[in-house]
Amino acid sequence: MQRLQAFKFELMPDGEQQRDMRRFAGSCRFVYNKALALQQAHYAESKKKLSYAGLCKQLTEWRKNEETKWLSETHSQPLQQTLKDLGRAYKNFFEKRADFPRFKKKGVSDSFRYPQGFKLDQGNSRVFLPKLGWLRYRNSRDVLGTVKNITVSQSSGKWFVSIQTEREIAEPVHPSTSIIGIDVGITRFASLSDGSFIEPLNTFRKYEQRLARCQRAMSRKKKFSNNWKKAKAKVQKLHTRIANIRRDYLHKTTTTISQNHAMVCIEDLQVRNMSKSAEGSVETPGRNVKAKSGLNKSILDQGWFEFRRQLEYKQVWRGGQVVAVNPRNTSRTCPCCGHVSAENRQTQARFACVECGFEENADLVGAINILAAGHAVLACGGTVQSGRPAKQEPAEATMQEFALV
Ligand SMILES: [Zn+2]
Repeated sequence: MQRLQAFKFELMPDGEQQRDMRRFAGSCRFVYNKALALQQAHYAESKKKLSYAGLCKQLTEWRKNEETKWLSETHSQPLQQTLKDLGRAYKNFFEKRADFPRFKKKGVSDSFRYPQGFKLDQGNSRVFLPKLGWLRYRNSRDVLGTVKNITVSQSSGKWFVSIQTEREIAEPVHPSTSIIGIDVGITRFASLSDGSFIEPLNTFRKYEQRLARCQRAMSRKKKFSNNWKKAKAKVQKLHTRIANIRRDYLHKTTTTISQNHAMVCIEDLQVRNMSKSAEGSVETPGRNVKAKSGLNKSILDQGWFEFRRQLEYKQVWRGGQVVAVNPRNTSRTCPCCGHVSAENRQTQARFACVECGFEENADLVGAINILAAGHAVLACGGTVQSGRPAKQEPAEATMQEFALV
């Protein structure tokens, strides 16, 4: 089977390379925003979308135009890749996987990608990129497979290179034959049907106050002044820190689960819809906005989406499976007698069957029911309804992650 994998390293550019990379990222952002504005105008006029080829033609003109001639200082391929990204953003929007594409802001996910023209010299820990020359990187592990593309990005003042590779590997066979049900929740991040559970990691909560303080400090400064920039860097650093801790924790838990169980049954929750519903619309403002937004925050905080995504690709890598089951009644069915009633769930934490008197922790009951539903899916020869292709680890993954895989 084909395995796609990204290897990310910190770059050690010299001053000139840093200036060039900032400029290239800026040019890509400029092209992205200009193309997005063009698409919007075009759509408003004709209800049609410009094709990738059409946008590339525009790009050639911008590079020739006197006013935007500076674009020609950036290699044409990263600029074209930006147009491809925009195309993908539109596609994700139309297929309801993402919000409408937004304009890119300076300093927020600055990056650019080369689809070819690069050279990788692992022995000397350096990579050659068109118009940038050889760049040294902190080599922490071997890059495996054929290099498909290379992305350069900036985060918290550091530059990174993400090397996307592809390689053929033998079809893996999972070392375990165990099957488990997992229920995700607020009080317990995940409850397993074998009775064990994973505590929540409310990273964001823990850092919330500190973040709020930093943001207040930033708002008191004069915008774009040196002190403002310093405060802003602090806020960004904190955001990065929170994201890193959360990702690290999720990787540890999903790796453990994936190592121990060949089949993992989870609820097919639409987290996206859940977090949308609280907002409501202008005509019908969301009900219980406060309570729901609290729940939303927890959902997002917990990173359930990311949890599932990691489980899916790790299971594929190990030769296991993720079975997504219909969440209907998993919290209200008695695992002992099968009685289904909302009254079985008197409180958030406790399950007590009104029919047979069976009592247990509600999250554990959920996990047991999910496991049963998973068994049913498998017994019926049902397809494993994992929503996305899971074999790919996206390019933004960091090195720490792979150390854990
Ligand atoms: Zn019962």
